[in-house]
Amino acid sequence: MKVTEHIKQAKGTVVSFEVLPPLKGKGIQALYDHLDPLMEFKPPFINVTYHRSESMFKKKPDGTFEQVEIRKRPGTVGICAAIMNRYKVDAVAHLICGGFSRQETEDALIDLNFLGVDNVLVLRGDAPKNISYFEPDPHGHKYAIDLLRQVMNMNKGLYLEEDLKSAVFTKFCPGVAGYPEKHFESPNLDADLRFLKAKVDAGAEYIVTQMFFDNKKYFDFVDRCRAAGIDVPIIPGLKAITSKKHLTILPKTFHVDIPDDLSNAVADCKKDEDVSRVGVEWLIKQSRELMQYGVPVLHYYTLGKSQVIVDVVKGVL
Ligand code: FAD
Repeated sequence: MKVTEHIKQAKGTVVSFEVLPPLKGKGIQALYDHLDPLMEFKPPFINVTYHRSESMFKKKPDGTFEQVEIRKRPGTVGICAAIMNRYKVDAVAHLICGGFSRQETEDALIDLNFLGVDNVLVLRGDAPKNISYFEPDPHGHKYAIDLLRQVMNMNKGLYLEEDLKSAVFTKFCPGVAGYPEKHFESPNLDADLRFLKAKVDAGAEYIVTQMFFDNKKYFDFVDRCRAAGIDVPIIPGLKAITSKKHLTILPKTFHVDIPDDLSNAVADCKKDEDVSRVGVEWLIKQSRELMQYGVPVLHYYTLGKSQVIVDVVKGVL
C-alpha cells in the first residue's frame, strides 16, 4: 500500500522507522535484531536508505596506490523485499541520483516493481566524502526532481527505450526530502521552497523532513509550505541525541541547529547513558508536541539505536 494511503487510513499519528542496509559482507540478522523490538509499535512502513559508492585509495603490490570505487552499503532493494516478506509491512526504498546512471536507476525501479515495493523516497544524494560539491554521474541526474521525473515517466509506461511497446505502468508513490532549516546549498529558505514546490508539482506525494530539534522550525516550515501552495503531507524526521559528539557532528553533517536547552543539558552529562536519557526525554517531548499538532507520522531515524527509539516511542504512544 502507498504511504499516502497509510496516512489516509490511519486513526491518528503513526510511527515509522528508517534503517540503513548492513555494511557489505555482513548478514541481515543484525538488521532483523534491530527491527524486531520496533515492530511492536506497528509501523505501517519502514524506510531503507540508499548509499553511493565511495572513492578509496588501495595499495598495490608495487607500493603505489590506485583509486577504487567501493559501495559499502549495497542491498537497498533486497533489504526492502526482505523487510516486507518478514514483517508484512511496506518498505520505502530510497533512491539517489549520485553515482547512478539513468539506466541503473531504471533497472533498480524495475526490480522494485517486480518485488512489489511501490514506495520510493526520491533524493539527490550528497557529494562523496572529501569532495566539496555534488557532481552527477555523467549519465545520471543532477537534482532529485530529474530522478522524480524518471519515476513519474515509468508510472506512465515511459521507459528509457522510447520504442518499448506496451510497457507496464508502475505504481510508485514518490516522496521527497524537505528542510525546515533549509538545504545547506540553498541561498535562502524561499529559494529552497520554490524547488520543493516544483518537486510536488512534478508528482511528489509527500515530504519527509530533515531532522530538527526545535519544533518551531517544523511548524514555521509547514506554514511556509502551505502558504507556497504545497499541500501534501509533511512527515517530520526525528532523531535522538545519544552522545556528546552529536553536538558537533549533527550540525556539521546535517546543517541543523541544536537548541541551547538541549545542548547545555547534554554538555552537563557525565556519562553517555546520561546523554541518552537527556536525548530520549527531549525527543519524547518533541514527539508529543508534534502529535498534538496533528502530524500524520513520526518518522524516526534509528541509526542502529533501536533501544533508544523503543524508549522514545513507549514514552509517546
Ligand atoms: P534536491 O531536491 O535536488 O536539492 C538539492 C539542492 O539543490 C537544494 O539546495 C535545492 O534547493 C537545490 N535545487 C533543487 N532543484 C534545483 C534546480 N532545478 N536548480 C537549482 N537548484 C536546485 N542521502 C543519501 O545519500 N541516501 C539516503 O538514503 C538519504 N535519505 C535521506 C532522507 C531524508 C528524509 C532526507 C531529508 C535526506 C536524505 N538524504 C539521503 C540526504 C540528501 O540526499 C541530501 O540532503 C542532498 O544534499 C539533497 O537531496 P535532495 O533530494 O533534497 O536534493
